[in-house]
Amino acid sequence: NVTKQYPNASQAAVNDVTFDVGEGETCMLLGTSGSGKTTLLRMVNRLIEPTSGEILMDGRDILKENPIELRRRMGYVIQQVGLFPHMTIAENIRVPGEISGSSSKQQMRERVDQLLKLVGLAPDEYRSRYPRQLSGGQQQRVGLARALSTDPAILLMDEPFGALDAITRARMQQELLNIQRGVRKTVLFVTHDVEEAFRLGDKIAVMSEGRLMQVGSPIELLAHPVNDFVSKLVGADNILRQLEYLPVTTAMVQELSPDAAPRTG
Ligand code: ADP
Ligand code: MG
Repeated sequence: NVTKQYPNASQAAVNDVTFDVGEGETCMLLGTSGSGKTTLLRMVNRLIEPTSGEILMDGRDILKENPIELRRRMGYVIQQVGLFPHMTIAENIRVPGEISGSSSKQQMRERVDQLLKLVGLAPDEYRSRYPRQLSGGQQQRVGLARALSTDPAILLMDEPFGALDAITRARMQQELLNIQRGVRKTVLFVTHDVEEAFRLGDKIAVMSEGRLMQVGSPIELLAHPVNDFVSKLVGADNILRQLEYLPVTTAMVQELSPDAAPRTG
């Protein structure tokens, strides 16, 4: 039941939202601009405090945790990446670990190389470069490596690929899936891009004007959208998407008994 009311705003940015994300699950927060996605995400690592409601992690209220300690357990990746321009790539990746003071220099050096490999950058070639010497896609990879550097259980991603061209974005999405297959983080991923939500999500939470419209697997949203808004947003009448996501049996049942299931066009 999380709510965030900004001062002087006519309506709550996040309005009585409740859902849960399982361990190792990728949950997409999908909605148009201004629907409250970023506000919701930033409440999870306490960059923003809720007006009311609770956020539990492993059953514990995050508002009772030390915010610095909490953020160390959550990697955070944003569209603007936010690498320090005067630091090398290796130094940028080390930042969260150094703040937490958890590893020796040697451990950190090995960790940086391991992370660079994980995100598809050859360590020898990239560790000593500066951010300006990388493309946008490569910088985003470094941002992901940095977010993973403390080996957090949870990854928060706010439109991380939003500024990339379509081809680079598709490649990054595929690589995130590959990485996720190995590291199995619990991921909360903000996007306004329906294709991205369907490609990456085990679960999609649809937001509109601060409210949670529906949460479910891609198949559930397609087969049983709760209202017109969700139906239109996910393109439930898009026959190609139906063919891609709905199991054949579901499609057949709907075809045979149109009254038994919501109309999907
Ligand atoms: P989204 O990420 O889905 O685009 P946001 O969470 O950024 O949405 O914003 C949700 C609503 O809250 C918008 O109406 C926005 O104008 C408002 N908002 C966001 N941040 C602030 C703030 N710091 N102060 C006041 N209003 C804000
Ligand atoms: Mg946003």
